[in-house]
Amino acid sequence: MADFPQNGLLGLDYQELSGIAQRFGQPEYRARQLFDAVYPQRLTGLDSVTTLPKQFRAELRQAGLEIQHPTIDKQFHSSDGTIRYLIAMGDGETVEAVWMPEGDGGEAGDGTEAGDNEWNRATICVSSQVGCAVNCQFCLTALLGVKRNLNAGEILGQVIAVLNERRVDLERQRVNIVFMGMGEPFLNYPQFMKAVRLLVEGVGFPESRMTVSTSGIIPRIYDFGAEPVRPKLAISLNASNDQVRSQIMPITRKWNLEMLMQAAREFPLRNRERITFEYVLLDQVNDSPEHAREVVELVRGIRCKVNLIALNPGPGIAFGTPTEKRVVEFQNMLMKAGIPAFVRRPRGRDIYAACGQLKRTVE
Ligand code: SAH
Ligand code: SF4
Repeated sequence: MADFPQNGLLGLDYQELSGIAQRFGQPEYRARQLFDAVYPQRLTGLDSVTTLPKQFRAELRQAGLEIQHPTIDKQFHSSDGTIRYLIAMGDGETVEAVWMPEGDGGEAGDGTEAGDNEWNRATICVSSQVGCAVNCQFCLTALLGVKRNLNAGEILGQVIAVLNERRVDLERQRVNIVFMGMGEPFLNYPQFMKAVRLLVEGVGFPESRMTVSTSGIIPRIYDFGAEPVRPKLAISLNASNDQVRSQIMPITRKWNLEMLMQAAREFPLRNRERITFEYVLLDQVNDSPEHAREVVELVRGIRCKVNLIALNPGPGIAFGTPTEKRVVEFQNMLMKAGIPAFVRRPRGRDIYAACGQLKRTVE
């Protein structure tokens, strides 16, 4: 896989900016000014960084050290308020990010109607790779294969691009970030984690408002548990036994469910934190009462909740979406066993913005 290009200042941490200040013979406080301009202030070009001398800005620019942001190429608006953004990187590669406004009346996914405070709460879903190599059989992103990793600046740049486009004032609006777009974040672990740290320390997002989803890259789940600053963890379970899971998620042949559930059981949760298990329901494949019983056994003893997602269909996907009735029956079986289970309402299905539908579709 091709590696990512380094582009400009976005994605550099304080230490790296400090190194740059030194290299250009500038005092240390210039590094702080750079950091403040790039992250908390979200400035989109050295032109606006008026705290820095013109001469220094010109030198930076000459060295290729602009504040280079990914750009929004296209946007698609759903009838439910969701917006899908096609975002271009410096080298022309594109990924997708999704903006999901939510009503203020309840937890995400409970079907709450958007009320007066509709814009006071929202979720941004960002991508971690161009495409994905994991090859889950129900996911449109898989059809692209993986082109390259995104660097930290490109990952957090999607967040900033969407915040700026939506003119979000983070003091007044509550925004969650989910790393659930295109790609497998744990196969791009160092850059993903660097983006997290810059979002927390720089842009000012609390780690508690971020969630990362993994298909189950076991060694990285252990690494992630040891991080001093980290988002919440979601694991794409999607099947209740190895036989079904290998069919729909070939990665199961490398890391089976026993290894996955052991990593989940050993995951060091913070106070009141839960692991989220995501479970895409595929009609007649993994959605029977027997499967629900197996899920109950699998997650026994883990402080968790289960998010059920009825398959979002797409061209080239050989599975069907279960009926509402089957979904609710599955949910009820988990609830009766004492496992919190939520049915995630599809967001932006009409514009191909829902889970598993991100494919850089521009038609
Ligand atoms: N690669 C990571 C994160 C992105 S996918 C992962 O797989 O966890 C985010 C979620 O969407 C995953 O839980 C995945 O199982 C789910 N998903 C993928 N394709 C889907 C589809 N067609 N319909 C509904 N959910 C889907
Ligand atoms: Fe990749 Fe996640 Fe899609 Fe699987 S579901 S192919 S891991 S993006």
